[in-house]
Amino acid sequence: MHLTFHCPKCDRTTQTGDIAQLANLSCSHCDWERPIPEGLERSNQAPSECFRCGNSDLWRQKNFPQTLGFLFVALGAITSSIAWMYYKPILALSILMGFALLDMILYIVMPDVLVCYRCRTKHHDVDVSQHGAFDHELGEKYRQEKIRQEEAEQEQAKKSLSQFDSEGHS
Ligand SMILES: [Zn+2]
Ligand SMILES: [Zn+2]
Repeated sequence: MHLTFHCPKCDRTTQTGDIAQLANLSCSHCDWERPIPEGLERSNQAPSECFRCGNSDLWRQKNFPQTLGFLFVALGAITSSIAWMYYKPILALSILMGFALLDMILYIVMPDVLVCYRCRTKHHDVDVSQHGAFDHELGEKYRQEKIRQEEAEQEQAKKSLSQFDSEGHS
């Protein structure tokens, strides 16, 4: 299993090597580092918790880059309209269907990944059978949680700033 995660410090993405060989998760762009939560079986290919934050809510999805999907649709639409312009309706249709088929095949062969609702870490090369697809209610719950957390952090920052101010003036 390996992970793709967002660094909380510099917000860039890091892809790890095999998690079984690692003691810590570390960002490849900055000095952020953190031990993998204790009690997790690293060789386990069917994780029930996130290896970055220990959260047990994970959803499964195809590791299919969305931009690639859009690109296919756009390419199919453009080339088939060109065929339409030259009065080749059968060619136009075949082009559209060809791209749709290609899209479908790619989707099928792309591996599944497990994504953490809380930190969006992706777990690759895993058995995803114990997890469901994205749940919007649960997703919303975590979105709200994140907003509240950010508000609390801002509040905290303001407080320490005003404390600093009052100390400075006394
Ligand atoms: Zn970083
Ligand atoms: Zn997580």
